[in-house]
Amino acid sequence: MAAGAIPATKLAYFDNMWAVQATATLLSHLETEDGRRALILDSTIFHPQGGGQPADTGFISGAASGFKFVVEDARLKDGLVYHYGSFENPQDDCVSIAKEGEEVSLYINPQRRDLNSRLHSAGHLLDICIRKMGLSHLEPGKGYHFSDGPFVEYKGIIPPDLLQIKSKELEKEANALILAGGKVSAPVLSYNEAAECCGGVLPSYIPTDSAPRIVKLGEHPGCPCGGTHVADIADIRNLTADAPHTNGMP
Ligand SMILES: [Zn+2]
Repeated sequence: MAAGAIPATKLAYFDNMWAVQATATLLSHLETEDGRRALILDSTIFHPQGGGQPADTGFISGAASGFKFVVEDARLKDGLVYHYGSFENPQDDCVSIAKEGEEVSLYINPQRRDLNSRLHSAGHLLDICIRKMGLSHLEPGKGYHFSDGPFVEYKGIIPPDLLQIKSKELEKEANALILAGGKVSAPVLSYNEAAECCGGVLPSYIPTDSAPRIVKLGEHPGCPCGGTHVADIADIRNLTADAPHTNGMP
């Protein structure tokens, strides 16, 4: 099937963020413009890279033909999730053993997903702490939830002599909240419900006619998010705040 004719991939992790195995239907098996092999399914539990969260890895196997496709990367483009990788047995690729319409089984790497979810939830927890500490004047920007140095960017000013102290306070506050725990959920809500859940207002990039997905950590205010998260704040386990990197005084 040509990519343009394929219906949007259902993001199954919206319904269940913790499923690491699932079945789906193979809709397309293609070589992309950059020469990579990709599988497109009707639905997926693989989180494609985006929103500061890395892609899931794992594998997809064909129920009837028996192929095994190792997924090294997943990306969302025009509503379709491209699972990039290669066939474990190169011969499977030569004869295109994977058949469109075939039922496939999906397995994601659970350790990698768990780490990604912990790092992503920790990013949202930091945001909650910033507000609790009376630093709401800091405007949140980019979140980077990769394991090689995760951070959340804020725009605003903290006097340089307070940076270290605030960083330690932040770490203390975050670890107290982790210790207290609290259920994490990420429902898709109507715009008005979502706004209420997020403390009354939604960021301007959320269209008013949309149904945003909101991540909610315990009883703290929610935040629009498309990522995967831990089931309980306690599952973040611990958080260490590095000295903040600053861009200097304006
Ligand atoms: Zn998020």
